[in-house]
Amino acid sequence: MNEKNNSLSEEELTEIRLEMVERQIVRRNVKDKAVLEAMRKVPRHLFVPQHYLPSAYDDGPLPIGYEQTISQPYVVASMTEELQLTPQSRVLEIGTGCGYQTAVLAEIAREVCTIEIIPQLADSARKLLENLGYGNLHFQTGDGSQGWPDKAPFDGIIVTAAAPRIPEILVTQLKFSGRMVIPVERGYYGSQDLLLLVKDIDGVKETNLYPVRFVPLQNKE
Ligand code: SAH
Repeated sequence: MNEKNNSLSEEELTEIRLEMVERQIVRRNVKDKAVLEAMRKVPRHLFVPQHYLPSAYDDGPLPIGYEQTISQPYVVASMTEELQLTPQSRVLEIGTGCGYQTAVLAEIAREVCTIEIIPQLADSARKLLENLGYGNLHFQTGDGSQGWPDKAPFDGIIVTAAAPRIPEILVTQLKFSGRMVIPVERGYYGSQDLLLLVKDIDGVKETNLYPVRFVPLQNKE
């Protein structure tokens, strides 16, 4: 730990977190009360590598090792809001990473199933989330691009790595009126759109939310 870390008490970190929620999330129009409450509660600083602790509440993504990143707080909040979760919801997350988004989902939903392809990240996220006392999580280490058929169907699916196209298999694992948020590569290299898919009897409605930059979804197909 460096000097700056040592100088931040838990109270100060809480204050910084509450300020982050006001400035980065409320001001950008995230309104879902459960999402705001979760963002105020989950200690993001515990999910970032120690030397990034002073930047834990900054308005951007941060490296978490293995060439992966923890998403920007606003993106975590807004993707979660788009899922319209309730305390009854069951959610699938693809790309556990450091587990921060997982914790936000676990605060709101009944059950969260999360898959991570990099074993070291999967292990450390699991340990941290268990230490924090989340009892409504199911973990899987491996390729999540085929979803989790045994646990389907889900009310919500969140993919936190960019796919080359919408994986149809994931759509089949959504309930009717279920919602999926997923970054999808569009056109030239590096350009991605965050898509919202809503499944109903008539098919799947697709909404383009905003441009994003996620690490690629690894696909072992
Ligand atoms: N929600 C995470 C984001 C991590 S970045 C967080 O806030 O920390 C995306 C994650 O997706 C990385 O950890 C990466 O290893 C993982 N990933 C990439 N392709 C995957 C796949 N096919 N199956 C499961 N996880 C995958």
